[in-house]
Amino acid sequence: MKCLRNFPVATIFVLAGMVFAQNPLVKSGNTREVAEHVYVIPDQRINVIPNIGIIVGRDGVLVVDTGMGPRNAETVLGEVKKITNKPVTYLTVTHFHPEHGMGAQAFPAETTLIYPTAQKIELLEKGQAIMKEFSGVSPEIADLLKPVKFRMPNVTFSDAAEVDLGDFTVQLFHFGSAHTRGDEFIFLPKQRLVFGGDVVINRFFPIMADSDSSGANWIDILQRLEDLKPAIVVPGHGEIGDVGVITAMREYLVFVRDRVQQMKSQGTSLGDVESKLDPEVRAKYKDWDNPQWIKNAIDNFYGSVK
Ligand SMILES: [Zn+2]
Repeated sequence: MKCLRNFPVATIFVLAGMVFAQNPLVKSGNTREVAEHVYVIPDQRINVIPNIGIIVGRDGVLVVDTGMGPRNAETVLGEVKKITNKPVTYLTVTHFHPEHGMGAQAFPAETTLIYPTAQKIELLEKGQAIMKEFSGVSPEIADLLKPVKFRMPNVTFSDAAEVDLGDFTVQLFHFGSAHTRGDEFIFLPKQRLVFGGDVVINRFFPIMADSDSSGANWIDILQRLEDLKPAIVVPGHGEIGDVGVITAMREYLVFVRDRVQQMKSQGTSLGDVESKLDPEVRAKYKDWDNPQWIKNAIDNFYGSVK
């Protein structure tokens, strides 16, 4: 099967380690305004819940990410209703992972879904496999994902798209693979705000478990996001911050890449790099969560550096 070939078994075990025993329900009543016309339903640092964006323009609403499964998406739509009576005209998704996009079917039929083309293809190729993997983690997650039917985008774009909400615009970017093949970034020039998806996570070690993950691209993409000079950064997971959230992620990846390169050039084996560098990283990043992901960052860079 094509999707399984693209998603190695080893990956399944590591991802499962991330999502164990956490309550996967998006909480209502915590939504807060983070910039003019922009609201976020916070993740509360629960791995299986992302930060979800609600952008309210003159002519309608753009939602960023859905929560895991249609039940969570209903909670998101309920939060939108508390803010505005305007219709949810657009939905976009930062990447195909279940807690980010697999609630799309709950959105009204009139909502226009916009995805990068690469993300649509990735969802078709790997969506079933990742859903199965997440469902195996806990009965709660399996229940949320059971009713999922993939809803395909109405509009796709290759590198960039612009959504006009009437009184301001929203830019959507796809810069290639980093966390997944179809990562998307949402930038609001007027508010100088960016949604980073799981390419930008705050005080969590970044996850390179996907068969399309690329540490080398990831560093370049973070630089491009910094060049947008955002004042507000909404990470895929973790607290909202400023451009420093992006910089911290880039500096972490550069640190790992450079150490891996140094050791590899001295002839150190992958296993020895892992056992030496992993504790070094943990000591340097004491307040970051999910250190089980350090190893696959090391592996990813070991495979790509000269
Ligand atoms: Zn993800």
